[in-house]
Amino acid sequence: LANHETLNGFSTLRFAVEIAALRLRCMISSFSPGRTTQFSRRCLEADVVVVGLGPAGSLAALAAARHGARVIGIERDSAAGGTGTRGGVHSYYYGAHGGMQEEIDSRVKEAEAVLGARGGSFHPEAKRAVLTEMLSECGVTVLFCCVLCEAEVADGTIVSLTVCDPEGPIQVRGRIFIDSSGDGDLAAAAGAQSSFGRRFDGASHSYSFVPRNILQRSPGGRWEVSFDNYDAGWVDPRDPWDFSRAVIEGRQQMCDYFSEAPKRTLEVIGTSSMLGVREGRHIVGDHVIGFEDFLRGRSYPDVICTASSHYDNHTRDLANEPLFCQMWLSALAMYRKGVDCQIPYRSILAKGIHNLLVACRALSVDREVSMAVRMQRDMQKLGEAAGTAAALAINQRVPLREIEIPRLQALLIESGVIEPGDLARTGVPTYNFAKGPLGGERLVSATVLADPELRRRVRKCLPDYLGTPDEGKAIFWLRLLKDEPRSDLQALLSSPDYPLRRSAAFALAFMGDVSAEAVLMECLTKRDPECPPPDIKTYPRWVAALIGLRALALPSAFEEALQILREGTDDRYLSFVLSYFCGILDVLEGEQKSRLLKAIKNLQNEARIGREYLGQGGRRKGLDIRWNIDLWVARLLQVLSPEDLNELALRYAADSRPFVRAAWKRFVFQMGEPARPCLA
Ligand SMILES: Cc1cc2nc3c(=O)[nH]c(=O)nc-3n(C[C@H](O)[C@H](O)[C@H](O)COP(=O)(O)OP(=O)(O)OC[C@H]3O[C@@H](n4cnc5c(N)ncnc54)[C@H](O)[C@@H]3O)c2cc1C
Repeated sequence: LANHETLNGFSTLRFAVEIAALRLRCMISSFSPGRTTQFSRRCLEADVVVVGLGPAGSLAALAAARHGARVIGIERDSAAGGTGTRGGVHSYYYGAHGGMQEEIDSRVKEAEAVLGARGGSFHPEAKRAVLTEMLSECGVTVLFCCVLCEAEVADGTIVSLTVCDPEGPIQVRGRIFIDSSGDGDLAAAAGAQSSFGRRFDGASHSYSFVPRNILQRSPGGRWEVSFDNYDAGWVDPRDPWDFSRAVIEGRQQMCDYFSEAPKRTLEVIGTSSMLGVREGRHIVGDHVIGFEDFLRGRSYPDVICTASSHYDNHTRDLANEPLFCQMWLSALAMYRKGVDCQIPYRSILAKGIHNLLVACRALSVDREVSMAVRMQRDMQKLGEAAGTAAALAINQRVPLREIEIPRLQALLIESGVIEPGDLARTGVPTYNFAKGPLGGERLVSATVLADPELRRRVRKCLPDYLGTPDEGKAIFWLRLLKDEPRSDLQALLSSPDYPLRRSAAFALAFMGDVSAEAVLMECLTKRDPECPPPDIKTYPRWVAALIGLRALALPSAFEEALQILREGTDDRYLSFVLSYFCGILDVLEGEQKSRLLKAIKNLQNEARIGREYLGQGGRRKGLDIRWNIDLWVARLLQVLSPEDLNELALRYAADSRPFVRAAWKRFVFQMGEPARPCLA
């Protein structure tokens, strides 16, 4: 400096001043990134902190910021969009339209034009870019590559979070927190109650490891970024060991999948940077939306968004799901039949925590509803609703549970998340008919149930739909109206038309009426192979009949079921047979129990059983489901031969797959006191 030398035309003195000014500017800007307050490089504060920037979290952050809140978004990966952009699933499937997502989608379409290739419903790279751009435009401070580690909670209020980047912990303080992590990580860290997996074995909804590819639908046509989606088995995303196992197995399965299909006209370009987890925790909120609420189209005065989907349960080991769902998918064949539902504000308020909203697929629904309320469009709307609610609480300076719901709803109507009509509803029309005597009527469960004349009229028309593609919907309504006289259905049981009497039997079984027994037995005995559409999720009619007999706890199928065990059957159907025996064990005679035990022991000696389970999605190589079949075997052994249970339970207690160990542990702890010493 003292020498006054020149450097690129600047005097060194001037150069030093420039550098000092630059440093000062850098310091100022690093102390106020976006619109949040930064106390030091590793301590930040905002009004609203959103954990996870997937479909729900991105929109939560955007909505909160657009309504004036200072927002920090924390994302463990390096891009926004979650499963939709990083999980490879760049496709909208069902889901309700409306809200800010329409603006995002049209900006994504513009960005797509620049990238050149099409991308299914949207190009994943275009959506990453647009979301990042919009977050930045709204002044959201985004911490990419930061993982939530801990939450500090005092008297039911989250005070701050510890998130980690490669350099170590960062403290993030906030007034309101939104859990958009998909799996409910933040709510769990804050001590919220949750449930996970199905009641029977604790297993989660199937996961996928999504290979991404490029393809041309016609020779010389436009290139398209696409993906494959096949189910890879089960994973517990809460368990790091199981999560890693699932990644390793998923990658191996991808190689198997493509080596088995060499003639495919596409090129794999990579796998997703995110495992395709469909189900994590379900956080318990102020209200848990139950399956009956969902199917009946319950409406709520505090509705904040709507969802539109179907009971999209991928499982094929369906015997482990609730009986209602087994009948729903088999006897009623309702897999693809869509339903709209409302989501109330109270279902995103985490119970017992004052300043936490759960806006992602971990919202407060029961497991069955979670199969449907998880699609990307619906999560985007849910996120927008949560972000708007959080900003409102900040602006009104009130706790989350005291915001003015009508004001929130007015804002959501303004942005298109909900419609004015949603507020006035006494129920959402569900499972209505396009054709036939009820064609075009907007039937709402609550209204039909409350009006005796309407009830009778609807009930009278329903048998007309048996044997039509709307049969499942009609059976749904018949069950709802099961208190009405049912002699017309019972009369159909002796119809000379077999499909018609079969339909009547399924309807009656679903209503809990044992008069269906003879026709269900007829269907089982002839091993009725008919599979109703859609083929992606269907069960032969004989399986549906067996499920019906199990639901009615009728032992009349004992001999037939034993015969099926002797004949052998598809791995997918074996659990139905075993679960049927479990359902009638109490009423079996001693001699029947001995014969059943013999059949079970023969089954156990068959090494091939349980190795050919095909999950949804076109894979040709079977998954191992023996652990699952053996859970049913264990339930039977527990009663028939407890001394044989030890070896089986001990073997699975040492299984290398954490989700299998967890399922068996659950089984052992669910057993009654006398049976428990078997593990000793
Ligand atoms: C294989 C598969 C196929 C699907 N197919 C479709 C389909 O075709 N169409 C459709 O509409 N829906 C589909 N879905 C459903 C839909 O994609 C998801 O339910 C939806 O993406 C859920 O959105 P979300 O925001 O709740 O969670 P996610 O998409 O899971 O996003 C959560 C975000 O939080 C981040 N995060 C998680 N934990 C932390 C943490 N501790 N710290 C920081 N960040 C964290 C994640 O990295 C992620 O970005 C599919 C899902 C799967 C898995």
